[in-house]
This record gives sequence, structure tokens and C-alpha cells, in this order.
Amino acid sequence: MNDKEKLQNLRHTSSHLLAAAVMELYSDAKRTLGPAIENGFYYDFDFTEAVSENDLAKIEDKMHELLPKWTEFTHKTVSADEAKQMFAGNEYKHELIDDFASKGEDLTVYECGGFVDLCKGGHVDNPAEEIGAFKLMSVAGAYWRGDENNKMLTRIYGTAFSTQKELDDYLLMLEESKKRDHKLLGKTLDLFTFSDMVGGGLPLWTPKGTLMRNLLDDFVWELRSAKGFEKVEIPHVAKRELYETSGHWTKFADELFHITTREEHEFVMKPMNCPHHTQIFARFPHSYRDMPQRFANTTMVYRDEQSGELSGLSRVRSITQDDAHVFCREEQVHDEVVAIWSIIKDFYKGVGFEDLTISLSMHDPDNMEAYLGTEEQWQYSEGQLRDILEQEGAEFFEAPGEAAFYGPKIDFIGRDSLGREWQVATIQLDRFMPNRFGLHCINEEGEKEQIVMIHCAIMGSIERFMSVMIEHFGGAFPVWLSPVQVVVIPISEKHVDYADDTAAHLTEAGVRVEVDDKDETMGNKIRKAQELKVPYMLVVGDKEMENNTINVRTRDGDQRGEMDIDSFTNEIASKIVQKLLDL
Ligand SMILES: [Zn+2]
Ligand SMILES: [Zn+2]
Repeated sequence: MNDKEKLQNLRHTSSHLLAAAVMELYSDAKRTLGPAIENGFYYDFDFTEAVSENDLAKIEDKMHELLPKWTEFTHKTVSADEAKQMFAGNEYKHELIDDFASKGEDLTVYECGGFVDLCKGGHVDNPAEEIGAFKLMSVAGAYWRGDENNKMLTRIYGTAFSTQKELDDYLLMLEESKKRDHKLLGKTLDLFTFSDMVGGGLPLWTPKGTLMRNLLDDFVWELRSAKGFEKVEIPHVAKRELYETSGHWTKFADELFHITTREEHEFVMKPMNCPHHTQIFARFPHSYRDMPQRFANTTMVYRDEQSGELSGLSRVRSITQDDAHVFCREEQVHDEVVAIWSIIKDFYKGVGFEDLTISLSMHDPDNMEAYLGTEEQWQYSEGQLRDILEQEGAEFFEAPGEAAFYGPKIDFIGRDSLGREWQVATIQLDRFMPNRFGLHCINEEGEKEQIVMIHCAIMGSIERFMSVMIEHFGGAFPVWLSPVQVVVIPISEKHVDYADDTAAHLTEAGVRVEVDDKDETMGNKIRKAQELKVPYMLVVGDKEMENNTINVRTRDGDQRGEMDIDSFTNEIASKIVQKLLDL
């Protein structure tokens, strides 16, 4: 059992404990279901009285009181009738019992500390010892079985860990992530906006946000261009047939945006770029001497996400991918994968994610209908990626069931400043699309040879990547990425000209600079610049004018004092070029 499963079991066990405590305190409540979820657990109850967050402390106390007696789980299989007797008067459990029984599934009940629940298992052996810390987080309404025609139940959310320290760290992280929420910061920093008239999940990028997107994309391009990639451009719609051939038609069935032309032709907004790129490759026959061909294309794809699932930049309908496809021969796969990998390393160093975790995302042999191709083909491609990872001496873990439907992937996972993990870059090996589209080159023997396609995105979705960056840095981006790098603050009206001259000098050196000549106090101007996370503030007054200097402060309150304009300009320009993270 891995750590993740252990934590799941610990949290599911905690949901039993929660139910036990609730039943002691509210004897006429009816308990229903209590699974472990991503960051904790919940349990749904039908209470006869209103229960709110004010009651959580009392329930927690009861859980603490019960826990020492929870030292061992026992379980047994029971008949539907026996089970119904055990949960007499609880129509919710009866419904579940009937469901399980009608599917011919065994009914099991688990007991711990005298508390019995209908359950399929997945607990820790000794809760009293293993549940080191727990906390009830919130109360929400939830329809029985998620169906709005059913009764609204009360859901109590909690979380649990093996140690108090882990719980404390988690709570601290939650508090900090609230402050860093990209939806709030995006507004404060004026990076993007949404409009009801345009529609949900369709972010609009402001000048500052667009600048940042372009800086990131230019960086990716700079690294790609050095590895022989070439830019291509494609339309945002295509005929239905393109996606039927590629397999996306069935795979993305519900998420496709459809367009019917006035001549009744069926088009689709592109959900992916790969099919279009295959048609650029296929425009004329390629000799083996032309291989590999490397196409890079930053462009939007469209997915019809359900309104309820949309969230800030994390889940959108218009997704910008920094997409690229390498069309190469079998024997070129290794070098191409290694080249892309080095782009990924350099890029993530520049944006402050140094230690990427690597996952070999593979197919799930028990669910072959989700994939194109046969078991043997998958094992071959996965073996190839595994060999590359091993030969390069990488540490990686294998993730069955995480592959794309057309091929295995090397996925890169970054850990942000709050310790949260994000899947970032990806390299995907694909033999199916070349096969479906008949992509080949003419080899040394003058014969047709099927080629391999490598899909690779460095940022993936730029929208999602921006949300990660905003929260990772809490809006305080490295200088090279800050929309405004310097604010010049004249102390009074008579220093405005000097401030403008200073700004002009910096602009000439390629620095993004603004002059704050509003009629406000210096203190207010500094506070405003700090709120906007501008890296440097240059205050200029009589003394600075006289000495031809500036007074430098940073956004984290560091007062560097008086500096010569040229030395400051050189220093900041070199930080920008080197993409240094520190001020
Ligand atoms: Zn259980
Ligand atoms: Zn692709």
C-alpha cells in the first residue's frame, strides 16, 4: 500500500469516527454515506435539527473522546435482511442495501469501538494509534445521492493526518492559498477578466496579462527554436471527418463545440491541434533526409465544459496550448525526447520550479476500451519511454491508467510554494495517429516507412499555467515576468520631470517602467506599488535630483537606499536577461 492509499484509509476511517460521534450526540439523526475525498473526508446526515459550523467543535470533542477505544476493526458479511435490521428506520441505508443486493454484491458491515457501519472496507488497522490529528472543516448541503429531486442532507467535511504537524501545515497552506487565490489576484493585478456577454469559461486577457503570456511563450519559443523547431499556424475549426480519423470525435464527443455551415457542412472547433499538424506534415512526401520535422504552435483549443465545472483560469472553455509535434523515425525517438526534456528543464528553472517529479503515464490493461491499439503495442511504446528515462538516470514513478488514449506519456509534476502538486509539461509518444493518417517517410531503400509522432507541451494550458504561476508567486513574479518592473515615484510636483527622465533612461535599456505622478502622498504610492507587487520602487526628490541618483526600495520592503542610475539600470537589465528569481 502506498502513502496515498494509507492516507485515504485513514481519512475514510475518520469518517466512521465522525458518524459515531454524531450518532452519540444526535440520536435521531440518520447517517448515510462517508467516503474519503481529495483532501479529507465527509459524511452525509439527515438531521432532525439544524446543524451548523458552530456545532463542529462539540462533534470534534466527541470524536476525541471516542477515539482511544477505537483500536481494532472487525467485519462480517450479512444478508440483506440482517443488514436492514441493523439499520432499522434508516431509509437511506435500506436503499443502499437494496442496491447492493440487487447487484448480487456481498453486504459487509464493519465494527470499531462499538460503532457499526455498512461499508466495503478500506480502513486503518488501529485508528487510536494511526489517526494522529483530525479537524472538521465545514458544513454544506448535499442532495441524497447527488440528485436534486432527493432530500437535501447535511454534509460535514473534515480532514485527517497521521501527525499533528501535517495537519498544522495543511491548515497553514489553506490560509495562505486563500490569500493567493488567482481569481482575486488576477483582478488586483489586472491580468484577466470575464464578461457575461462573452460567456463563462472564456477569459479575456488584459494588456498586462497578455504581456505575461507572451513573455512565457517567447521563452518557450527561444528554447524550442534552439532545438530546431519551426512555427506553424492553423485555423481554429475543421471538418468533422478530421476528428473522426484522429479518434477525437468519439473521445471528446460531449466536449466538442459544433458548427453547421449554411451549406449544412459539419465543422468542429478544434479540441486538439495534432490532427491539423498531421496534415501539414502530409502535404508532400518526405525523404528520410527531411526527418525529423518539428512543428511548434501556440494556439487555442476549445472544450465545451459544463458551466458548473468552470473555475477561474483553472477550468476554461478556451485553452491556449503551447503545443508542438515532432514527426520522426523510430531511431530518432530517443534524441528527440531528450531534447524536449532539456527544454522542459530550462523552462521550469526560469519560472522557479526546480525539482520536477517525473511520471511515466501508462495504459490500464484492465480498461483497454479507453485506448487505441493493442496491449503489445502499448507495452512496446511504454518500454521505449522507460528505457529513455532509465538511460538518462532519471528518478520516476509509473502511473498506470494515466496515458493519453493514443499513447504513453512522460509527465512532469511541479510542486508550488505551498507544496501543492501540478502536472505541468508532457511528452507523449504516439504511433496511432501516424498510422490513422498514413504518415510516412521514404527511407534509404526507397520504401515507405511509418513515422512516429511526439506530442509535447511545455506549459500545457497557458490559462492553467498562469493560475499556477499567480498562486505560486502570490503575484510577486520574478523581475523578467513582472508586467511593470519599476515604478518611479516623484516626491512632489517639481520632481516629475526628473522622474520622467529616469523612466526614459530605463525604458531605453528595455525595462518596463511607470511613473506614478498622481497627486498622492509618497506613502500611499509606495503602498500601491507594493500591492501591485512591482519589484522596484525608485523614489526621487531634491537630494536625488542634485546627485543624479535614485532611492531604491523593493516590494518586500527592503530599502536599498541611494544608487547611481546607471548601476541600477545595469543590475536590473542583467537580472532580466538571466531570468533571475531573486530581486
Ligand atoms: Zn468504512
Ligand atoms: Zn498533440
